Amino acid sequence: MVGKVRFKCVQCGNCCRDKNFIITITHKDTIRLANHLKCDLKELLSKYIGFYQVRKELENRLVFPAISTYRGNAFLGLRKKSDGSCLFLRDDNLCEIYAARPLVCRSFPFTFEVKEGWLSWGLMAKAEEICPGLGQGEIVSEKSLEKMGKEIIRELEEYRKIVSIWNHHAKVEQLDPVLLLTTFFEEPKLPPQST
Ligand code: SF4
Ligand code: SF4
Repeated sequence: MVGKVRFKCVQCGNCCRDKNFIITITHKDTIRLANHLKCDLKELLSKYIGFYQVRKELENRLVFPAISTYRGNAFLGLRKKSDGSCLFLRDDNLCEIYAARPLVCRSFPFTFEVKEGWLSWGLMAKAEEICPGLGQGEIVSEKSLEKMGKEIIRELEEYRKIVSIWNHHAKVEQLDPVLLLTTFFEEPKLPPQST
């Protein structure tokens, strides 16, 4: 937990341009994005989102769960341009999919966790380094942080459960990760039995 923080996004686009960030997404982000772009989940996977692998020692540091794939553990995230910036970052630094931007984008530069039943919040690693919006504008109220934190924690918990069921089945039989999106995300359920 950090003290009171002033924050107002000044639309510099730095957080969308950092090539080291994986713009991780949840099951709900995926569906919101598909609805916004008016495409199905298969098309979303072929054009806009993808699986990212990180060094083993970094896997446990991410708050998002790693997904078992036939190529090893990976994180689901938005695709990037060749310069490492987000696929949806426009030339004027605005977000092409603002209304459907993922949870991590909506919560940046804040991060939330629950420890022993208590919700606490802080700033994301590197936020102070890259975000000129910190220190600008109004003090962010405890109430809005609590509201944001609860929403994020709830969605992340749900996502972790879905991924955990998926990972259990993916270890038993080699499943195509497309199935994760098309069967688990739309309507969480067990994968179809192989014949
Ligand atoms: S780095 Fe901060 S100020 Fe710049 S776009 Fe991101 S949130 Fe806004
Ligand atoms: S989805 Fe939008 S807000 Fe999020 S990183 Fe991409 S351009 Fe930035």
